[in-house]
Amino acid sequence: AFRLTSRFPEAFEICKEFRIGREKMLQIANALTKEIQLGLARETHPQAIVKCFLTYIQDLPTGRERGKFMALDLGGTNFRCLLVNLTDGAVMQSTLKSFAISEELMQGPGTDLFDFIAECLAGFCKEQNIGNDRIPLGFTFSFPLQQIGINKGILRRWTKGFRCEGVEGKDVVELLQSAIDRRGDVNVKIVAILNDSTSTLVSCAYSHPDCRIGLIVGTGVNACYVEQTSKAEMLDGYESSQKPIMIINTELGAFGDNGSLDSVRTVYDKTLDIESVNPGSQTLEKCVSGMYLGEVVRHILLDLMRMGVLFRGMRPDEMQTKWIFRTRFISEIESDPPEVFHNARVVLYHLGIKTDDLNDMACLRYICDSISLRSAQLTSCAIVAMINQMNVESCTVAIDGGLCRYHPHYRNLIEQQMSILLKNASAYKIVLSEDGSGLGAALVAAAFANK
Ligand code: ADP
Repeated sequence: AFRLTSRFPEAFEICKEFRIGREKMLQIANALTKEIQLGLARETHPQAIVKCFLTYIQDLPTGRERGKFMALDLGGTNFRCLLVNLTDGAVMQSTLKSFAISEELMQGPGTDLFDFIAECLAGFCKEQNIGNDRIPLGFTFSFPLQQIGINKGILRRWTKGFRCEGVEGKDVVELLQSAIDRRGDVNVKIVAILNDSTSTLVSCAYSHPDCRIGLIVGTGVNACYVEQTSKAEMLDGYESSQKPIMIINTELGAFGDNGSLDSVRTVYDKTLDIESVNPGSQTLEKCVSGMYLGEVVRHILLDLMRMGVLFRGMRPDEMQTKWIFRTRFISEIESDPPEVFHNARVVLYHLGIKTDDLNDMACLRYICDSISLRSAQLTSCAIVAMINQMNVESCTVAIDGGLCRYHPHYRNLIEQQMSILLKNASAYKIVLSEDGSGLGAALVAAAFANK
């Protein structure tokens, strides 16, 4: 049997630093609830870290939405176009097309990015034979967005490796609508902008009316929840309305930017942060999301290789390459059955490490397990923080994103950790979104099409 403690005491010590006990998790959840409250009172607390932006969405879907609607989804590595046809209570038909966003587009001028999106959209409309009908479109844009209306949103700052110039501080709807209109060959009107967590919540609420939280753990991490309007109406000059609820986009990926997560951050987290394009920001995101988990593992492996304790002192050049350890490698390694290291061997081979040493591979798996667990623990803290803020006895929590979707245990880990944190954990149902982030945006477009 593999005994990590005696064989690799150094690795064991490192992984121990990634463990969070129940008390600490409860503290983190409480701290996040407080940050959410500060965000909701942003007028008096302009420095609030968790911004709690208004979404202007005050209705959950009714099932009576009808017609053809489009959704665009930009939030990370891929960009998607979606066309849905809604009939009474059902999605009749939907068509999806994905496009990769190149590194060049992610770092180039904003106009290039929006022209590219408009071009993809035009191609998609052509393929779908959308003639001259004016199609209402919901734009899922998953970056910190300060909304000042349902179809007006200012990008506060880029995250997840994007750095396009000329977009921060601007209304993203206007930028995209202009790019669309400049082409002159598509008749599409952006009627709503929202982020992927909001879209996930709305789309899940279509089939689970008690859905109150939308959570994404993909390239980045973010969540939204259903708040009472009375607790949010102070924000952004928003006038009180008759409607009792408002979806709040927390932007909780920034949690920890003022030090609230210092007690769980390790030297590896700090190195990763310093080397990132946005040092000091998105602290929770860097401990949780798919963009970063593999990179954390790489830093740990580098350290253990430098100490000469892993892989018989091998130190291939490949491992020096930033981001080479993809987060999907973690999923692959954790998908191997117990005592089997088939995927681990393949991953290591790809990284220039040729080994058959079962202890080495078991150690690698233990490191991956530790990093995944901490991510799921922090995600669970975030869910509990929102449950506490809403003070609801039960609800459905919609989750989505690459990690929730493809990691072999992520969802189980969340459920397990929530049962450690909550007495009545089974009253909160975790549902993996079925429609990606597109249907929600189309449903919101339907709600605002004629407004
Ligand atoms: P995005 O957040 O970019 O809109 P996704 O929600 O699909 O899109 O998330 C993509 C991210 O999910 C990738 O950046 C990657 O970090 C992560 N990911 C992709 N495949 C896997 C996998 N098999 N296991 C774990 N994470 C994955």
